[in-house]
Amino acid sequence: MIARNDFALARRRMVEEQIMRRGVRDQRLLKAMNEVPRHLFVDEAFWSQAYNDHPLAIGEGQTISQPFMVALMTDALGLTGGEKVLEIGTGCGYQTAILARLADWVYSVERLAGLSRRAQGNLEKVGVFNVNLVVADGTKGWPAEAPYDAIIVTAGAPATPRPLREQLAQGGRLVIPVGDRRVQTLWRITRKGEEFVQEDLGGCRFVDLIGEHGW
Ligand code: SAH
Repeated sequence: MIARNDFALARRRMVEEQIMRRGVRDQRLLKAMNEVPRHLFVDEAFWSQAYNDHPLAIGEGQTISQPFMVALMTDALGLTGGEKVLEIGTGCGYQTAILARLADWVYSVERLAGLSRRAQGNLEKVGVFNVNLVVADGTKGWPAEAPYDAIIVTAGAPATPRPLREQLAQGGRLVIPVGDRRVQTLWRITRKGEEFVQEDLGGCRFVDLIGEHGW
């Protein structure tokens, strides 16, 4: 049995050593990562590893991203509190919970119904309610609620799905890993009028984005 205090300590260490030390400064983001109990999003067998510097299995061949990757991607979205956010790849719902703490509302799309159902339970457990989980092919985005101030894709795509660009609001940011199935580049794409400005945020490794505009 691991005590609650131990998790709080592990979380603080995670934020200091893996996230702040690597240059993330957004106080609201650091606070959210310090407070959201990441271990409750993974199987109890993985609780002792939940705050370690690596991804973890969440079932159905999928993974919860490394804490730093969650921080880096969220930071790149530049959330200030009022945004409507679209997430593609709910997984266990951990990234969703962080986004929900920093924005007004989050729509999160997952293709695997079993994962989405478990994520719903996880989010309720930690008291996150400003989210709508959807089971669908997220490579088509979620047009019903578009446009979005921020879109985050937590699976690797062969190219940026056109619907996701189209569902960005003016000034909106899309953060997405694009590459082959082994390694990808993390891109931030910002909509400026009908122009899309691309910034390279570095190399990364994600599970496949599977769907009409994916693999
Ligand atoms: N953010 C998640 C990461 C999950 S891994 C977390 O914190 O747990 C990526 C997820 O993307 C997987 O759950 C996978 O099933 C999902 N996925 C892959 N292709 C998808 C698609 N086209 N639409 C929605 N979800 C997709």
